[in-house]
Amino acid sequence: MTQRLSLTEQAHNIIRKHLKVGGIAIDATVGNGHDTLFLAKQVETQGLVFGFDIQKQAIQTARFRLEQELAMNNVKLIHASHSLMKTFIAEKYVGKINTIMFNLGYLPGSDKTVITETVSTLDALNQSIELLAVGGIITIAAYPGHPGGKEEAYEIGQWCQQLDPKQYIVQQINSSEKDTAPRLYTIQKI
Ligand code: SAH
Repeated sequence: MTQRLSLTEQAHNIIRKHLKVGGIAIDATVGNGHDTLFLAKQVETQGLVFGFDIQKQAIQTARFRLEQELAMNNVKLIHASHSLMKTFIAEKYVGKINTIMFNLGYLPGSDKTVITETVSTLDALNQSIELLAVGGIITIAAYPGHPGGKEEAYEIGQWCQQLDPKQYIVQQINSSEKDTAPRLYTIQKI
């Protein structure tokens, strides 16, 4: 039996097509740093990765993981909300970011009350489309199964719908048919 790919694996497979050596990426929700590491490996030392998280613990864990993998050289970890991303990213990178990843909700094994919030997520998404390069991609893993997650996923769906289809290709991948199942949105700038 073939094993179904997780949403994260599917996101990584899509990103591989858009993010090359020397590219620039943002991990909008660093968490345990797995995606940050993936992005750093994709762009190699010629590239650059910005990572945001509001939890100090997440930034520390990610830094440790990246250092162990000798992947910290081209990564800038920022202990701040992704809703401030444009203030932390230099003007010269506007329109040059090849990939922006969001993995929403709470960090498993951590404080479940610290979750991404709809207003700041949408704020960050609006900044993301400005930062994104033509041909670049935003991936958003959303989890409607936990409190607050349903509203957040719904609002992201609405936000995707108001994007100009001549400028952005939006896709949605559901992990199962259940309403509460995690889903992945991808937004490509064309
Ligand atoms: N639900 C995912 C993991 C998500 S981790 C899974 O099951 O695999 C989400 C991370 O986003 C957490 O580390 C949390 O601290 C971070 N976060 C929450 N709000 C944020 C914000 N406004 N800006 C940046 N990071 C945020």
